[in-house]
Amino acid sequence: MVYFNVPPCTGDEMAFIEQAIQNHKICGDGPFTKQCNAWLETRFSAQKALLTTSGTTALDMALLLCDLKPGDEVILPSYTFSSTATAPVLAGANLVFADIRPDTMNMDETRLEEAITDKTKVIIVMHYAGVACEMDTIMDIARRHRLIVVEDAAQGVMSAYKGKALGTIGDFGCYSFHETKNYSMGEGGALLIRDRIYNERAEILREKGTDRSKFYRGQIDKYTWVDIGDSYLPSELNAAYLWAQLLKADKINENRMDSWNRYYEALKPLADQGKIDLPAVPDGCIHNAHMFWIKCRDLKERTELIDFLKTGGGVFRISLYSAAQCSGGEKVWAVQWQ
Ligand SMILES: *Cc1c(COP(=O)(O)O)cnc(C)c1O
Repeated sequence: MVYFNVPPCTGDEMAFIEQAIQNHKICGDGPFTKQCNAWLETRFSAQKALLTTSGTTALDMALLLCDLKPGDEVILPSYTFSSTATAPVLAGANLVFADIRPDTMNMDETRLEEAITDKTKVIIVMHYAGVACEMDTIMDIARRHRLIVVEDAAQGVMSAYKGKALGTIGDFGCYSFHETKNYSMGEGGALLIRDRIYNERAEILREKGTDRSKFYRGQIDKYTWVDIGDSYLPSELNAAYLWAQLLKADKINENRMDSWNRYYEALKPLADQGKIDLPAVPDGCIHNAHMFWIKCRDLKERTELIDFLKTGGGVFRISLYSAAQCSGGEKVWAVQWQ
């Protein structure tokens, strides 16, 4: 049996959660949150990392920091998770969907420029399955048109593009630590900020529109409501769980890569015969084995394959045989394993 997803657990999570309880600090921004932020900053050479309550709220924060006005346009890929779209909608912008490329399923950088108008303010890219978008081209287009780039790197923690960690290339990077992602805290995420001019407003948005973060650092003697905001701080209990995961980040990554490579080798003969398509990892991209996907030739074959895999008692069962039954038509339908 191959389960769709097994939440990662290293064995140290309970001890850290107990420590948080014994510290009498279970709300946000305690020692575990700070350690996680610092780990992300160091490991990925990020100017600033702030844990959030989810990948979705990291995106919400990023789009609020873009300071959008009604009528502004945000370009995003046509193939992505709903949170990539809800964040700009909540920030008051209009959505413009850009086409994707068939090999990586990422935004097609050669079609991006045609989506830009004089109302465009932001480009959101999403690194599908932890494989990077063509960031050199995208950043060049963004710079020429003076656009902000937000990376939805929810699936891309520990992935890199030409030596740079995903999430650190654009103006903002958004990670998810949801149960289904490579590193987890149950529900959670992080916002990465490239330019320090955004740090102060990010802290305020995250702390219910108050300057409480400054107060805790002793920079002001009382805190007050200064801006819009929300509560984007995760509990220390969740951060303690994540801390255990980050300490074993390389081990978790190697384990996933082993599985990914095994799927790839096993399914490659079918791809060579033209029966299915496998994920492409372009030169310069280091991926994190976030998920393994295949593309069947059409909806009918995909439906049959999924139905067959489901006969394994409600969980997906990899079957080379059923995939081998594929025949004819255009390959556009994806099945994915995480
Ligand atoms: C998981 C995911 C999100 C949302 O993350 P949550 O932590 O579940 O809110 C956003 N974008 C993409 C591409 C994702 O895969």
